[in-house]
Amino acid sequence: ATPAEEKDLVIIGGGVAGYVAAIKAGQEGLKVACIEKRGALGGTCLNVGCIPSKSLLNNSHLYHQILHDTKNRGIDVGDVKLNLANMMKAKETSVSSLTKGIEFLFKKNNVEYIKGTGAFADEHTVAVRLQDGSETSVRGKNILIATGSESTPFPGLTIDEKKVITSTGAIALEKVPNKMVVVGGGIIGLEMGSVWCRLGAEVTVVEFLGQIGGPGMDAEISKNIQKTLAKQGMKFMLNTKVVKGDDSAEIVKLDVEAAKGGKAQTLEADVVLVAIGRRPYTANLGLENIGLETDNRGRLVIDSEYRTKLPHIRVIGDCTFGPMLAHKAEEEAVAVIEFITKNYGHVNYGAIPSVMYTHPEVAWVGQNEAELKEAGVKYKVGTFPFSANSRAKTNQDSDGMVKFLADAETDRILGVHIVGPNAGEMIAEGTLALEYGASTEDVGRTSHAHPTLAEAFKEAAMATYGKAIHY
Ligand code: FAD
Ligand code: NAD
Repeated sequence: ATPAEEKDLVIIGGGVAGYVAAIKAGQEGLKVACIEKRGALGGTCLNVGCIPSKSLLNNSHLYHQILHDTKNRGIDVGDVKLNLANMMKAKETSVSSLTKGIEFLFKKNNVEYIKGTGAFADEHTVAVRLQDGSETSVRGKNILIATGSESTPFPGLTIDEKKVITSTGAIALEKVPNKMVVVGGGIIGLEMGSVWCRLGAEVTVVEFLGQIGGPGMDAEISKNIQKTLAKQGMKFMLNTKVVKGDDSAEIVKLDVEAAKGGKAQTLEADVVLVAIGRRPYTANLGLENIGLETDNRGRLVIDSEYRTKLPHIRVIGDCTFGPMLAHKAEEEAVAVIEFITKNYGHVNYGAIPSVMYTHPEVAWVGQNEAELKEAGVKYKVGTFPFSANSRAKTNQDSDGMVKFLADAETDRILGVHIVGPNAGEMIAEGTLALEYGASTEDVGRTSHAHPTLAEAFKEAAMATYGKAIHY
């Protein structure tokens, strides 16, 4: 091993949290090293998460649309065929160009990229097993843990990423399954379920709760998207739990029953996607060597400045509290470097948008109706359907709605919930409005270009403090 070199900051993990912090630290003039073990930067998001899934979502949507939605647009197409291998290649090209882009940004910002697995040797030293098998170590005045998360396993099912898969297998299947059962109707289940449903699989989603979409999605919006996904061919079993799995034969069997006990049945599938959530990943990090502990959900415990009980060791991203989202990790990365260099930093956890990239998309920011009710907040609701929006009509893509929740007295926006075309882009306006403490009247009196989908956003705001014009 070479003698330990001292850095201002050592980052363990080169995912969105770690790589953004590294670039920001470089920009602030810190001597910084980032240790990443997977052989590519960008973490879950770029390599096996956000980016590859969105490539497949986009291209499977195009395929599905060309198959089912061209005639009434005046386009006659001939023989349409799926070339899955090429669809996967397109995905790989997007991924590799983006991960290489981060390597370039590291060089540009003087970040040292250490390819290997890091573990705490002591409070200031990280031992690194390099990819070539050799060992080294690096010392840090500050150390940032950004080791991310992994999918939560389902007891009794063995993940082989072929027959019983997580999202990692779901972005890399070599053929379209006949029958796919998705365990967990959250974001991953619905996004990856959509991909394979569009490509021809019979997809059944088994969800423990009474609604799909995972935590945070407004119940009315959830019902709305479920209806549309059902029209696309997806089947749903809500209030249903998987009791037992048998993956010993080629066809996987799942015993399911009503969540509250009762009617049981056995589902069969050639592929089972386990999508019941993700859990923090801190395995083999040597936490025991420095006395750091995780909470009962595996999260590293931190204060409001991201510090562990050892104040020079901080934690951000999926391996600590908060929603497991790339843009949340990115906000924290900037804030944590500001805490280190300037002693202040800020993330508004009340204004972090969520987007589900199905078709139509679902997007929201702020609180939903159930949360407001539980908090005893008096609120008013304004909605506008895309079926009354001119652009959605011309695009022949008008399923969905925009919904505002605002304080009953002050009209301040408390939540925005959208299901509809381009909801993921449109939510940026809702996030900005929330961040600036806008009222629905502020939005409703702002000019929005015609004809755009964004007019539905304006009109839903108008419907909250007064009346919409076109509905
Ligand atoms: P990660 O991205 O998991 O990065 C942690 C990195 O640390 C990994 O590369 C790992 O190899 C490395 N590491 C771990 N331990 C060590 C060690 N000891 N030494 C060296 N390196 C180590 N979020 C969104 O906002 N939008 C989306 O559309 C979206 N889509 C997703 C789709 C899928 C299928 C999945 C699974 C997730 C998706 N997410 C999405 C969530 C997003 O990927 C995560 O929130 C984000 O990656 C978290 O970043 P992170 O840096 O905290 O962790
Ligand atoms: P999730 O928490 O969104 O959904 C898991 C779902 O599984 C929940 O609805 C839960 O009720 C259900 N469930 C749990 N146990 C079950 C069981 N035994 N049987 C049936 N249902 C069960 O988790 P996910 O979809 O796995 O996603 C993991 C993380 O990745 C999330 O934090 C998500 O935010 C993130 N992610 C984000 C995006 C995006 O932003 N577009 C995309 C993919 C993943």
